[in-house]
Amino acid sequence: MKKTKYIFVTGGVASSLGKGIISASLAKLLQARGFAVTNQKLDPYINVDPGTLNPYEHGECFVTEDGAETDLDLGHYERFTNVPTSQSNNFTTGRIYQNVINKERKGEYLGSTVQVVPHITDEIKRCIRLLGNDGTYDFVITEVGGTVGDIESLPFVEAIRQMKWEMGRDCAVIHLTLVPYLSAAAELKTKPTQHSVKNLQQQGVQPDIIVCRTEHHLTQSMKSKIALFCNVENSSVIESIDAPSIYDVPINMLEEKLDVEVLRKTNTAIPEKIHLESWKRFLKHLHNPSHEVTVALVGKYVELKDAYKSIREALIHGGVANETKVNVRSLHSEYLNPENLDEKFSGVDAILVAPGFGSRGLEGKILAVQYAREHAIPFFGICLGMQCAVIEFARNVLGFKDANSAEMNPKTTHPVIDIMSDQKNIGNMGGTMRLGVYPCLLEENSKAFSAYHEKMISERHRHRYEFNNAYIDEFAKYGMVATGRNPERDLVEIVEIPQHPCFIGVQFHPEYKSTVAKPHPLFVGFIKAALENSRK
Ligand code: GLN
Repeated sequence: MKKTKYIFVTGGVASSLGKGIISASLAKLLQARGFAVTNQKLDPYINVDPGTLNPYEHGECFVTEDGAETDLDLGHYERFTNVPTSQSNNFTTGRIYQNVINKERKGEYLGSTVQVVPHITDEIKRCIRLLGNDGTYDFVITEVGGTVGDIESLPFVEAIRQMKWEMGRDCAVIHLTLVPYLSAAAELKTKPTQHSVKNLQQQGVQPDIIVCRTEHHLTQSMKSKIALFCNVENSSVIESIDAPSIYDVPINMLEEKLDVEVLRKTNTAIPEKIHLESWKRFLKHLHNPSHEVTVALVGKYVELKDAYKSIREALIHGGVANETKVNVRSLHSEYLNPENLDEKFSGVDAILVAPGFGSRGLEGKILAVQYAREHAIPFFGICLGMQCAVIEFARNVLGFKDANSAEMNPKTTHPVIDIMSDQKNIGNMGGTMRLGVYPCLLEENSKAFSAYHEKMISERHRHRYEFNNAYIDEFAKYGMVATGRNPERDLVEIVEIPQHPCFIGVQFHPEYKSTVAKPHPLFVGFIKAALENSRK
C-alpha cells in the first residue's frame, strides 16, 4: 500500500490568482513523473455544495461521475490529469458542519462540548484523508479556497497546521501570492507577499514553497528577498508568470521546478523521467492551428467568463483535435430577437446553445435554434439547449404554438419537455436533481454513434426535466429523432435531425468529460462540422 503524502495549496494577497490551475499543473507534473495523484478543493463558504449557487456567485457548477455538484476547479483537475474526481474531492464548511452536527445529534460525541477545535478541525482532517485512506494515491493535493486571513478559512488553516505537525515531511504547504507591478514606479512589489506569509505564520503554518503570480519576471534578488523575509529556501520561491493559456502553466511550472521542489520537500525520490510528450503535442496544436472557426455560444450568462467554463474548454479541446482555433462569439440570449439574428450570427460557423434554468433568455435560445435549423448551420444543444431544440421543433415544425417545457410554463397544452416522474414530489432543492453518470444506448445509424464509435456510452447529468415520450412518434414523423436513450428508464438523452448537416441535442453534459488527453467526441465532431461549414 502506498503511503500518501499531502500537499496543501493556500492563497494570499488576492483571490482569483489561479490556485486551481497551479494545483492542477502540479498534479499533471507529478503524474507525468509516474505518481498517482488526486486533487481536492476545500471551500470555506457555508453552502453544503455549490449546486444551489447561481453562476453570478460561483461560475459553473461542475458535476462528477458520482453526482456531486462541485466547484469548477474540479473541472480543471480532471481536464489536466484525466482522472475522474468524486464526492470526496470537494468539501465546503457547510458540509463539514453538517457532518459534525449530524454526529452530535446521534450522540456520538458522548456528552462532550462540540467545538471548532478539535471537532470541526478533526472532521476537516478526516475529509482530507478520505482520499488517502486506501493507498491509491501517492499525493493528495488539497487546495483551500479563499484567501489566507479570511475569517471563514481559519479552521481549514488550523487543520493544515495540525496535519503538518503530525505528519512532518509527508506534508507540504505551497502558498500562492501576487507580486503586483506598479507601473508608476515601474517596479514589482514583494511587500504584499511578505504580509500574507506573515498572516499564515501567525496561524502557525510555515509555507514550504511560495509561488509568485506575476506579470513580469522576478529577478534573482527579488526571489532571495522573498526567501529571506518568508523563511523559505531560495529554490522554493517559484515564479508563475502570466501564460498565453492555462495549458502552458504545467510547462512553466516544470521550468521553475515546482514538482522537483515538492518532491524534495516531501523527501520523495525524484524520478529521472517525465512524460509530457502528448501534453506538448497538445500545446503545439493549440498554438499553431491550421484552421479557424467561429462558434456562437448562446446563453444568459455569457458575460461571466466562468459560467460556461467546461464548455469553453471542451471547445478548445475539440478545436485542437481538428488543428483549429475556435473563436467563441458570446451571444446573450436575452438580447436576441427576430430582427437582429442575421447580424448576430453573421460569420458564425456553428451554434451552441448552453444549459440553464428558468425562463429568462429562453425565447432567444429558441430563436438561435431556429436560425441554426433553417440555415443548415451546425447546431449543438446541451441540456436546456437540447430542450430548446425540442420546443423549437414542436412550435415551428409540428405547429404546436404554445409548446414549452413544464419548467417554464406549467400550463402549456404541449409540455414537450416535462418533469421527470421521480422529481415531482421533491421539496429540497439541494442535491436532488438527476445527477451524475447514467448509461445511454445509441442508435447505430446516427451522428452520435459516428462520433463515439460505441453503442453504450455513459455521460453526466444535471436536470429535472426531460423529453416527453408521449410526443416521440410525432417528432420522428416530421424529422427529429431520438438517437440515444437511457436503457433502464427509456429517457430520451439525444435528439437529432438527420436531414440537417449537423444538428444534435443532448440531455447530458458532455463538456464535463472533455480533457486534454481525451477531447470529447461530440465536441470534436461539432468543430469538424463547423470547419466543413466554414469552407462552404
Ligand atoms: N432546467 C432544465 C432541467 O432542469 C435543464 C437543466 C440544465 O440545463 N442543466 O431539466
